[in-house]
Amino acid sequence: MPKPKPKPGKRGSGGRSGLPETVADLGEFGFIETLRRRLPQASGSLPIGVGDDAAWWRPAAGNGILTTTDMLVNRVHFDLDYTTAADLGYKSLAVNLSDLAAMGGEPVCAYLALALPAELEKIWLDEYITAFLKLAQEYNVQLAGGDTVAARDLTISVTLNGLAPVNKPILRSGAAVNDDIYVSGSIGDSFCGLKLLQKIFPAAALNPAEIAFLQGRHLRPAARVRLGRTLAACGRVNAMLDISDGVVADLGHLLTASGELGAELDQAAIPLSPAAAKLEAAGVTDLPDLLTGGEDYELLFCANPGARAEIAEIARACGVNLTRIGRVNDKRKILMLVNGKSEALSGRRGYDHFRN
Ligand code: ADP
Ligand code: MG
Repeated sequence: MPKPKPKPGKRGSGGRSGLPETVADLGEFGFIETLRRRLPQASGSLPIGVGDDAAWWRPAAGNGILTTTDMLVNRVHFDLDYTTAADLGYKSLAVNLSDLAAMGGEPVCAYLALALPAELEKIWLDEYITAFLKLAQEYNVQLAGGDTVAARDLTISVTLNGLAPVNKPILRSGAAVNDDIYVSGSIGDSFCGLKLLQKIFPAAALNPAEIAFLQGRHLRPAARVRLGRTLAACGRVNAMLDISDGVVADLGHLLTASGELGAELDQAAIPLSPAAAKLEAAGVTDLPDLLTGGEDYELLFCANPGARAEIAEIARACGVNLTRIGRVNDKRKILMLVNGKSEALSGRRGYDHFRN
């Protein structure tokens, strides 16, 4: 469809004035053409990718297609003051990989919708695309299409298609009373990393490697694709999601979807990285914050206690820690076991875009 033309760049064209080239200098079609030349020839199950009116994906007959979309808005989801183009290129795809992982799917093709301010530097866009394509290649994902428009502020929307696992996707709604609750990796690192990047948390409590680790967990979350697929394939996982809004909120979503269930978490079992534990011990943060901060992009899932040995084996095979943090019950709320006593969780909840 026809689109508004980007406004002419404030900085003159093509670096003639000695100023950096901008998106306006490059133009919508210049950008798409450059992008197309960087992509592998469409082939196999993707005969048509970038370049026509629509991509043509021909998945082999199977269990169906999973589709997920995530939108990132400047100053809402990221801040260019401390997020590089490469960080954002990575993260805008990684958060979608994480959603697909949570269903146990295999990612295949991505669509990238960009709303770009005309004065954005061309080099920024190059670095963004380079990082996006690098992560895509690591996961065998093809960039199959998208849209590019001019806008006052930077907004990025990525859609990811993938194949559903052979059995069936793991839903949020399958948890049962007495199921074990597991999380992958460690919790609260991204929250700590964000607060360090925003200079809200003092860096003095940590060494440079710990700071880099926590900030990296916020800027470059690992997508647990292999883990998600392996958990789905084992047939022992009853319900799963990825933690984007915080453990408490996302566990709440899963318990609600599974039929007004509740859970008891064991405070001592919550897996914290050494760096996050150090900030907690120093009183810079506390467990309720780490459990509600969000953007962990770890997997949270429920399985029957009879599956413990198998799940421990999957953790070893995938090289990801899986920690049993509690158990599902029928009490309709989430309680925390603290020194042998059940306590209500404090009022802090997970991230809600319309409330926070
Ligand atoms: P149309 O005008 O028919 O909607 P466009 O001119 O918007 O097509 O896009 C031309 C081609 O470039 C399409 O194949 C589209 O999917 C692709 N494309 C446009 N922007 C992007 C982008 N940001 N990332 C990937 N592909 C893109
Ligand atoms: Mg068209």
